[in-house]
Amino acid sequence: MTPVTTPSSTTPTPRLFFALWPPTELSRELYRLAGNALRDGSARRVVPENIHLTLAFLGSVDASFRECAERAASAIRSESFTLILEQMGCWPKSGILWAGSAQTPGPLLHLVQSLNAGLTGCGFEAEKRPYAAHLTLARKAHQIHGSRAIEPHSWEINRFCLVQSHARQEGAHYETLRSWELKPPAV
Ligand code: ATP
Ligand code: MG
Repeated sequence: MTPVTTPSSTTPTPRLFFALWPPTELSRELYRLAGNALRDGSARRVVPENIHLTLAFLGSVDASFRECAERAASAIRSESFTLILEQMGCWPKSGILWAGSAQTPGPLLHLVQSLNAGLTGCGFEAEKRPYAAHLTLARKAHQIHGSRAIEPHSWEINRFCLVQSHARQEGAHYETLRSWELKPPAV
């Protein structure tokens, strides 16, 4: 019997983004710190395995765009680097509690800019807002104001990944599809 629908008409296009994923120990520590910051609140913490730093959000893309994005990622020659997480803050409008750095390291900016440049060649419209490197630790965190220093945590970053976001009833689930090594820094 001929199927009424083809797979392409029933399978939604995957929702993809490029990101940096912290090691388990660091994610657990950030989760704990968010818990301390949010005591007594109604905010929703991001579970440790979901904590990440987004480099570029692609949205729902088809197979040919994904191929182009992967080629763009493979062409990147950015260096590995250390990100020092030393601040925690809250954006009042979005209610996002985040961890981040006082200064975005040069190699991180280089990585984001190279990705955006490569993706632009795939027809991608890069984010217009200035890049704000952060890890979202909680949402609906409206009871926290401003930012404050936290005990610095060093994060050695030597790879980036392409991730698929699956919307599930119990919350987002992220699947790493592929990752790319960053080159060792020149000495
Ligand atoms: P949910 O939307 O279900 O609450 P989520 O925001 O974690 O979950 P996605 O919406 O798939 O999951 O987003 C994946 C990542 O991309 C997150 O880090 C999110 O903050 C970021 N992101 C989503 N939309 C954008 C956007 N328009 N611009 C920049 N980053 C985005
Ligand atoms: Mg979202």
